[in-house]
Amino acid sequence: SRIFQRTVRLRAAVRHLCPHSTLTCAARLSPADFHSPFLACSSGQFVASTRKLHVEPKSSPAGAPERLPFSKVTDEDLAYFRKILPGRTITDPDLVESSNVDWLKTVKGSSEVLLRPQTTEEVSQILRYCYNRNLAVNPQGGNTGLVGGSVPVYDEIILSTSLMNNILTFDNISGILTCQAGCVLENLSLYLEERDYIMPLDLGAKGSCQIGGNVATNAGGLRLLRYGSLHGTVLGLEVVLADGRVLDCLATLRKDNTGYDLKQLFIGSEGTLGVITAVSILCPRKPKSTNVVFLGCETFEELLKTFQLCRGMLGEILSAFEFLDSECMRLLNTHLKLPNPISDCPFYIVIETSGSDPDHDSQKLDNFLEEAIASTFVTDGTVATEESKIKALWSMRERVTEALTHDGFTYKYDISLPVERIYQLVTDMRQHLGDRAKSVVGYGHVGDGNLHLNITSPAKDPALLAAIEPFVYEWTASCQGSISAEHGLGLKKRNYIYYSKPSQAVALMGNIKAMLDPKGILNPYKTLPDNLK
Ligand SMILES: Cc1cc2nc3c(=O)[nH]c(=O)nc-3n(C[C@H](O)[C@H](O)[C@H](O)COP(=O)(O)OP(=O)(O)OC[C@H]3O[C@@H](n4cnc5c(N)ncnc54)[C@H](O)[C@@H]3O)c2cc1C
Repeated sequence: SRIFQRTVRLRAAVRHLCPHSTLTCAARLSPADFHSPFLACSSGQFVASTRKLHVEPKSSPAGAPERLPFSKVTDEDLAYFRKILPGRTITDPDLVESSNVDWLKTVKGSSEVLLRPQTTEEVSQILRYCYNRNLAVNPQGGNTGLVGGSVPVYDEIILSTSLMNNILTFDNISGILTCQAGCVLENLSLYLEERDYIMPLDLGAKGSCQIGGNVATNAGGLRLLRYGSLHGTVLGLEVVLADGRVLDCLATLRKDNTGYDLKQLFIGSEGTLGVITAVSILCPRKPKSTNVVFLGCETFEELLKTFQLCRGMLGEILSAFEFLDSECMRLLNTHLKLPNPISDCPFYIVIETSGSDPDHDSQKLDNFLEEAIASTFVTDGTVATEESKIKALWSMRERVTEALTHDGFTYKYDISLPVERIYQLVTDMRQHLGDRAKSVVGYGHVGDGNLHLNITSPAKDPALLAAIEPFVYEWTASCQGSISAEHGLGLKKRNYIYYSKPSQAVALMGNIKAMLDPKGILNPYKTLPDNLK
């Protein structure tokens, strides 16, 4: 076939090529795959054991302040919840347990009540009651968040949106989907694909995370380069405020300049301003052709030149530009036995194109690859057009997190930087730490200027942590970067906010919180710093 000939021609053009058919094709990873004995957050609440993580007993969890003076749940409170949510007021400790622990198993709350509403009216009744009783509430979606925002710190009531999973409307002409907040991202994707559309976002956690959680964290993910952030694609939200009032901003209009755009306040607010109960979102058409290219570069400067070339030559069909370094490749080889699909290089790039015309896309990709090879920006590469091979190449990028969990105790950083600086942080950190770290690796979303910097050690190492922080935050601030590109602040990072936001802005955030949630019952101890200046 023509595609095969094209691939052969490209293969001949590069210096060396391994058959990617030998790659292990990674299935989507489930949270259970990541429950490793070694996975840990920078706040270091866990110690490694041979079988599972143990939460260290502590009086003030993960550096949280003392418990605020909220009421404690009484039998009368439970009687009320059981009346409005018959069979959906969960108090069995075994059933509440999994909602008390975060996905990384690094933060653990001690809530005794899990509420599972099905409707906006039920959420409204719960919050009105909790507000009057001064009971703290922890909104929870799929519980895949990585910064300790999704679980209680003390005994906050867990309000799960898991049963709010109905699709409300889909307009086949405009591509606008309206659904309840508890719809799982992957289910929405499957629903849309049957109708020739896709969701504008995609994450490794899509099998569990929910659209309400995605909006509450302003999740980025693999398609942001192409379709932009949720601040652009979300058209409307329905939100229940702390006192139970329902704010209906569930518009399905692309343009609406009637005053302040209030929904934006809730995108990325991590459950601290209101509970999102429904979302309307603009969905793109499903691409008719997809190609994935895996390339090797000798230097990060050449990788950046490839990025520039790629943006210019692939233009509108470029849908992802991701990278990993040779240390990541070593961990993939060592821990997951994933063979390198090309020859060894210091840097690797995953490029995805998606478009509406296979011939047109192939031609553009061929031209780009020929130019990249001729200009010696890339030294090796391979191309995939079939679904199984596309998945295999993507797994080299998507499974780095999993490989890290096998390498040791991991300190994780999710940094936003000017794109030309992103790898300098990895190099400087390596030099700064010397042989104190086991591995220092860099990978991430080049197209979005988002670096995932991960540092491992054989076991939890407070001295190593003291060497990493605040060095990493100071370095980031010196480049006007962000200490949290896409994961949010949650419990773990809230006190570092001043490295990325001026105190006036943080103070204004505090004012907004006080206006919308005067008693502070919604997701306390999260997002905002302890010392609001
Ligand atoms: C393997 C893996 C890959 C990931 N990849 C990415 C990635 O590429 N990009 C990225 O940005 N993130 C990524 N994440 C992080 C995480 O998946 C996202 O933050 C996701 O959007 C969280 O959705 P959730 O439904 O699980 O929310 P949860 O984890 O349940 O909650 C997250 C936060 O949102 C709040 N919240 C949840 N639902 C609501 C609601 N209805 N109303 C108000 N507040 C609510 C919670 O209180 C909490 O503060 C990844 C996580 C994993 C485990």
